[in-house]
Amino acid sequence: MNSNILPKKSLGPDAEQFRREEQRRKVEGATSYDELFELVKRVVESEIGRHRAGLALVLTDMPNTVGAFHPVGSNSIVLNRALINAMNVVVKNEKEINSFVFMVLMHEYLHSLGYLNEIEVRRIAHRISKAALGPDHWTAKMAVGNWLEMYPQLSMVVQRLMPDSFERVDKFDSSSMSYIG
Ligand SMILES: [Zn+2]
Repeated sequence: MNSNILPKKSLGPDAEQFRREEQRRKVEGATSYDELFELVKRVVESEIGRHRAGLALVLTDMPNTVGAFHPVGSNSIVLNRALINAMNVVVKNEKEINSFVFMVLMHEYLHSLGYLNEIEVRRIAHRISKAALGPDHWTAKMAVGNWLEMYPQLSMVVQRLMPDSFERVDKFDSSSMSYIG
């Protein structure tokens, strides 16, 4: 498996900057949930040395106060499809939407690694985002911010929610196989 995240220890300031720009470019340019999740896993492993494979992503509609959740003890992350749809209406910038999905996935991934305390997860996600993508990147603000305050227009988006409709994202966490084989 190719990893473009360089080991951090030997990097000087210029290399650190280059690494962040690379990671920003990848997060902002990702075209699928599994691509974003792959980046989440690499960045988390690179920053805190923790890893877990074999998670499934499920999409369903929830109220817009919920970004996603990880049922404790399960191998799933359930992402709020309605919120992502609303973000697409309110935020026209795909890079910013990618950053949002990246942060929501990272938050739940940290829960799935066993960090259950909400404040601790937000603190770790903030630290990881600052280190990996830079303190001024959207992800760092989203790690500790409240999206309904950052994007008040979200509350104005009217949608017909389908909370009984679940979609499983294919190929999600597909690179897990390479850790077994
Ligand atoms: Zn949480």
